[in-house]
Amino acid sequence: MHRYFEDVVLENNLAALVVESLMPEAQRSLRDMARVREVGQAARYSFFFISPDDALTSLPPSDESFNEHSVMMMKTAQAAFDERFVVIADARFSALLASVRNHGEDGTEGAGDDVIWSFEPDIVYSALEYLMARVTAELPRQAAVFSRAVRTCVPKTTSLQLTVSVTTKLARLLQEQAVRELAVNRIATAIRSSLELSSILQTTVDEVGRALGAQYSALSVEGEHGEPSLTTCYFRDGAEENDDSRDGLVSDMHAYGVRLRGRMKAYVHDGTSGANDPNSRPVAAVPVIYRERTMGVLMVSSDDSQRVWQENEILLMRTVADQVAVAVNHARLFQQMQQQALTDGLTGCFNRRFFEIQLERDLHLATRTGQPVSLIMLDVDRFKLVNDTHGHDAGDVALRIIAGALREEVRGVDTAARYGGEEFAVILPQAGLEGALLVAERLRARIEMTELPGLGRITASFGVATFPEHASSRELLVTKADRALSHAKRTGRNRVCSPLDLPDCAIEEAAEIETEAGAAFVNDAPAAPETLETQEAATPSNI
Ligand code: GH3
Ligand code: MG
Ligand code: MG
Repeated sequence: MHRYFEDVVLENNLAALVVESLMPEAQRSLRDMARVREVGQAARYSFFFISPDDALTSLPPSDESFNEHSVMMMKTAQAAFDERFVVIADARFSALLASVRNHGEDGTEGAGDDVIWSFEPDIVYSALEYLMARVTAELPRQAAVFSRAVRTCVPKTTSLQLTVSVTTKLARLLQEQAVRELAVNRIATAIRSSLELSSILQTTVDEVGRALGAQYSALSVEGEHGEPSLTTCYFRDGAEENDDSRDGLVSDMHAYGVRLRGRMKAYVHDGTSGANDPNSRPVAAVPVIYRERTMGVLMVSSDDSQRVWQENEILLMRTVADQVAVAVNHARLFQQMQQQALTDGLTGCFNRRFFEIQLERDLHLATRTGQPVSLIMLDVDRFKLVNDTHGHDAGDVALRIIAGALREEVRGVDTAARYGGEEFAVILPQAGLEGALLVAERLRARIEMTELPGLGRITASFGVATFPEHASSRELLVTKADRALSHAKRTGRNRVCSPLDLPDCAIEEAAEIETEAGAAFVNDAPAAPETLETQEAATPSNI
C-alpha cells in the first residue's frame, strides 16, 4: 500500500517532504531498495527511519543515488520491528499511511496489521508534529534539519485529483485482495482435504498457477530419509509441455531453491519491457518452510515478458507454501501411521489385519476378472525347539530372516504377511494352483538352504489352496490352505501340500463346513466347481 502513496510523488514530480519508516532490511527486496532510491531522488526532502543495524545507516554521504536532502534516521529497536509509515507533505498534496503490527494475546503475530490512512492536511501536520517531537527527543542532532524540512513543506491543501488517484488504486488493491483471499481459502481447503502427498502437491501447483495466471508453476518438496525430492509441475493450457520444458522448469526451481536457503524470503524476478530473452522469464519463488527448515520451493513463471509480481501475489504464494508445509507433514505422518498400523513390528511384513483386508480386495478383483487367487500358508517346523535351544532372541532373528526371504521371492502384486507366531501367509493374485505350488516349493527350498547364524538350518511346512478351485470365500480359502499345511506337518514336515494331497477320509467332513460357511461367501463370487467344493473336510488347523 505504501507504494501507492509513493507513486503520487514519483508520477507527479511532487517536490514534497517524504518521511518513511522502512521495513527491516531482511524483508526488503532489491526492488524495494530501488524504490527507496527513486523516492529519495524525487522528493524535495526525504527522511527514512531505519533500524540501528540496517546497512543503510553506513551509507556514504556521497552516495549519488540519494540527494543531499535524504537523511537516514535511526529507530528504536521496538519501533523498528512494529511500525511502518509514510507521510507526504506538500503544498498541493498531503497524505499519511501508517500500519502497526497486531500482536496476538500470546505475543505471536496477530491476524493482520492495523492500517490507517488520511489525506487531511491537519492530520498529516499533527503526525509531523509528533515526529518532530520524537526526533527532538531521540535524535537531537537531526532535529534542526527535520524541523526545517517540515516548515518548508507545510501541508496546506490536498488535491482532489491526486487523492482520487491513490484511493482508486487502494480500492482496486482491496478488491484484488478479496479475490486472492478467496483463492487462498480454496487452495487451503483443497490441500487439506487430501492426505495423499502427490495429490496435495498437484492441487497446489494447479491452483497457484491458475490463481496467478502463470504459464508454469512448479513445486518441489524434499524426500524423506534420503529419498529423492517430489516435484510437480503445472503447465497452463497451451503452454508447451514436454520432457525438455519440464526438465528446464525443475532445474530452474532447484537453482532458486539453493538461493532461498539463504535468508531470502522470496526470489522475485520481474519482467522488463522489451526483454525477449527466455532466460530472463519473469519468475517468483518462495521457500516451503516447516519448523524453520526449508523443505521445498514453490515457483511460478510467466510468458509475459513484462509481468511484474505484486506484493500480494507473493504473499499468496507464501501463504500457500505455509499450508503446503503443514499438509505435507500431515500426509507423511498419516502415511507413517498407516504403515505402522498394517505392518508387523518384528519382521516388517504386513500384519494379519492387512492380510485380511488385502485378501478380501484380491478376491473381489479376481471375482470380477474371473482370475484365480492362490494362498500359501507356511509354518516353521519345530520352532519351539529353536526357542528352547537358542533362546527367544535367536528365534526372532530366524523369523526376520525367513520374512526377508519371503519378501524377496514374491512378485510386487503378491502380499507376504505374518499370520501369527511363526506362521506366514502369501497371497498370490492371478496365480493358479500349479503356479502357487511352484512358488511354495521355491520358498521351501530357499528356507531349507538358508544358514541361520548360530542356529544352523531350519525348515518350514507349506499349505496351498486356490480360489475359486478349492474355496469360494475368504474364510474357506484360509481354512483350505491351513488344512493342507496341517497335512504337510502330519506327513513329515518340510514339504508343500495342497487340498489335492488330502486323504479321502476328509471329504465327508468338508460338506458340512461348506454349508456352515456359506453365509460368509464373497457376495458375487461365482460358484466354485461343485465337485471340489464338497470334497474337502475342515478339521482344526492346529496340530
Ligand atoms: P511344528 O513343527 O509342529 O510347527 O512345531 P513348532 O514347535 O513350530 O510348533 P508350536 O506351535 O508348538 O510352537 C510355535 C513356537 O513359535 C512357540 C512360540 O514360542 C514360538 N513363537 C511364536 N511367535 C514367536 C516370536 O515372535 N518369536 C519367537 N522367538 N518365537 C515365537
Ligand atoms: Mg505354529
Ligand atoms: Mg511351527
